[in-house]
This record gives sequence, structure tokens and C-alpha cells, in this order.
Amino acid sequence: MKFYEVAVYEVERALKKLEMDESLANIIREPQKSVEVSLPVKMDDGTTKVFKGYRVIHSDATGPAKGGIRFHQDVDLEETKALATLMTFKCALFGVPFGGGKGGVKVDPRELSEAELERLSRQYIRQLREIFGQDKDVPAPDVNTNPKVMGWMADEFETLVNKLEPGIITGKPLAIGGSLGRTSATGKGISIVTREACKKFGINIQGATVAIQGFGNVGSFAAKCLDELGVKLVAVVDVYGGVYNPDGLNVPELIKYAKENKTVKGFPGCQEIDNYGVLTADVDILVPAALEGQITEEIAPDVKAKIIVEAANGPTTPEADVILAEKGVIALPDILCNAGGVTVSYFEWVQNRTGLYWSEEKVNNSLEEYVVRAFDNVIATKEKYNCPDYRNAAFCLAAERIGEAIKARGWVNY
Ligand code: NAD
Repeated sequence: MKFYEVAVYEVERALKKLEMDESLANIIREPQKSVEVSLPVKMDDGTTKVFKGYRVIHSDATGPAKGGIRFHQDVDLEETKALATLMTFKCALFGVPFGGGKGGVKVDPRELSEAELERLSRQYIRQLREIFGQDKDVPAPDVNTNPKVMGWMADEFETLVNKLEPGIITGKPLAIGGSLGRTSATGKGISIVTREACKKFGINIQGATVAIQGFGNVGSFAAKCLDELGVKLVAVVDVYGGVYNPDGLNVPELIKYAKENKTVKGFPGCQEIDNYGVLTADVDILVPAALEGQITEEIAPDVKAKIIVEAANGPTTPEADVILAEKGVIALPDILCNAGGVTVSYFEWVQNRTGLYWSEEKVNNSLEEYVVRAFDNVIATKEKYNCPDYRNAAFCLAAERIGEAIKARGWVNY
């Protein structure tokens, strides 16, 4: 199944479970707006290249659309639709007052200089400026984009509209209205979900072992926060290669090494390991934190982890989910596990709107509250509807809330 088909499949499973009215279900199914633009960018060598850019608003029934911008060579409209759909459900599940959106550019950013990347980022905002706005659609970082890129984009938007509007984008540098705790938020959310899951499913978190696929923003901060909870990181892989040490990797040293070398590959004192090795490592906890479609029906039979905490969006295919369930693996879904980022994005947006900036302690305490509440709600929903798995429970709870918003807006007759 392609990624968008997977998203649709999960939405359909929830709508069916809830026996949702067809008129309502039809609105929830379809993305509201999908835009594709061409982005001409002057390259350093004097030529001009044209890149494809996308922005999808899946739904703004529950609030302004919210979702990251991805720079990757595999980005296309279908992938962006899938990611936007997940965002609507994620925001509804966490009770943050946003809808779902997502954007991206089909580009391998490793092939661009920093100046070219800046021109591309600014061009993206110029071509899509009508869509964005703090009360319309609010982007954020995703794969291969970061606070620096958000800073360029915020500046471009504010220049175009001729006023300061920091709430247009989140994940900004602190100096222009970013929030303390935003960069670490998704990884921190992963660690909170892991802690709650270990408590619930009777695993001693002290000394529990973890393997992580992907060591970018989410993977590295998840490693840091899990390390602080006493979890032992034994295996990590990124796009260049991986490292394994059954006695545990020194996480602060690994983070430093990865920053300097742009990869974990070659970290001293370890064996080499590949994607398959990490995904099937003999660990208590597996954290896929790279891209979608990684745990497939081929990989799933060999997975040894007791719990999967999905940091990436869509890392497990539905076919793999079935196999994992048969094996008794507890698979905790992306929309529950990785919503720490959008939750602190919401706090950033609130700070931008009020002009009152929070301490890191306040951000982290509030994040803790949101994640624990969402975790408890998913557990309770699974029981309430007798859902076959936690993914279905999370989608059911979110779909109920999206449905309520659509009804309250009078988009269907009731
Ligand atoms: P990132 O670009 O910072 O890091 C991605 C990591 O994945 C890198 O280490 C890269 O080397 C690795 N990777 C890429 N392709 C790989 C492959 N084929 N095999 C192994 N490793 C590979 O991106 P990120 O922001 O950390 O996002 C990672 C995932 O988390 C994505 O699915 C993203 O949608 C999701 N996510 C991100 C955020 C956020 O706040 N950044 C929030 C929610 C979800």
C-alpha cells in the first residue's frame, strides 16, 4: 500500500468502527485543498532550476491547518496528502485547536548550497503566501527543515505582508519568537509515551534497551530524553549507516559525534549495523524515527521489540501491523507518540499571539500534561470501543472530535 492509501485505510477503519454517518465521513475523508506549485530558483552557478512544491490542507474544521514542511527527493502530492491527514487526526487527538496541513518540496537538500536552500525556502513562501497565515495555515519544520529554514520563511512572509506576524510559522529560532523547548519537543514526547507505556505494560524502564532508526531532530532528542530516563540505547542507524553496542552507546558523545560528522556511522567502539539490523534488534523498545513505510510485512516477522513507539509518521504498514499484533508486539501509533512537536508548536503560537513568553519549565510541564492525557485517552478509547489495536483507538477518538467540529459548524444536517 502507498502511504496515502495507508492513511486513508486507517481513517476508514476508524469511521467504520464509529459507524459514522456517511455525510460526515465524506467530509473527513477528503483533503480540503491540495496545491502544487513550481519554484524557480537561481543556482550559484548562474543557472535556474525549477522545483516542485506542495501544500495540502486536509481540514481546518478544528482550527487553522497545522503541519510541517518537508524537503526530500521523494516528496510528492500523495505523500503530502497522507501527512496532512495524519496532522488533522494528531491535533484532534491532543486537543490542540488546529486542523491538519502539510507541505513539502521535491528536492535533495544535500545537493544545494546554503544560499540556494535559502532562496528555495523563500520562493516556497512567495508562491504559497495566499494559503498561509496565523489564522489560516501555520507550517513548521519536518524532515530536512529546521529553525534556520523557519526563520527565512517567517522573514519572507512578514516582508510580503508588510507586518510582523510571528504566529505564521512555528519552530522558529528563539530570537524571532520561537519557543523554549520546541526543538526537543517531539523527542521529549516520545520519551513520555515510552515511560507511560513501560508503566502500563510492566516493563522496568531503568535499563530497558532501545533501538532507534533515524538520528535527526526527533531521533537524537528521543535518544537524549530516553537516556535521561535510564533507558539503554544499543543500536542506531541513519541514512548513511548505523552503529551497535550491546553494552549501550554513550548518548551525549554520540549526539556530539553525529553533529560533527553529519552521521552516526563510524562512531568509535561499535559494530556496524544496517536498517534491517536496527529494526529487528533484540531490544525492549523500537523507535522508528526516519521515514514512512519502514516496518513492512517482510521486516515485521523478525521484529523482537516488545513495544514500538512510532516517532516517524507512518513507519509501519498495515500489513506489518497485523503481523506485529499476532506476535503480541505493542505498537503505539505515530499520532499519539510524535505529537509533542505540534503540541509545543501550539504553545509557541499561543506565545506569539499573546506576546507573553513562557519559561522552559512551563513548556515542559504543559507538554507532559498533554502527552499523558492523550496516552490515557487512547488506552480508555481502546476499551470503550473494543478497538483491535492502539492505532485504531487513537484514530477513533480523533475522528469523533473532528466529527463534532464539523457538526458544530453546520457542514452537515443534524
Ligand atoms: P530529520 O531530517 O531531522 O532526520 C531524519 C533522520 O532519518 C536522519 O537521521 C536521516 O539520516 C534518517 N533517514 C532518512 N532516510 C533514512 C533511511 N532510508 N534509512 C535510515 N535512516 C534514514 O527529520 P525529523 O524532523 O527528525 O523527522 C523524522 C520523522 O519524524 C519524520 O517521519 C517526520 O515526519 C516525523 N516527525 C517530525 C517532527 C518534528 O518536530 N521534526 C514531528 C513529528 C513527526
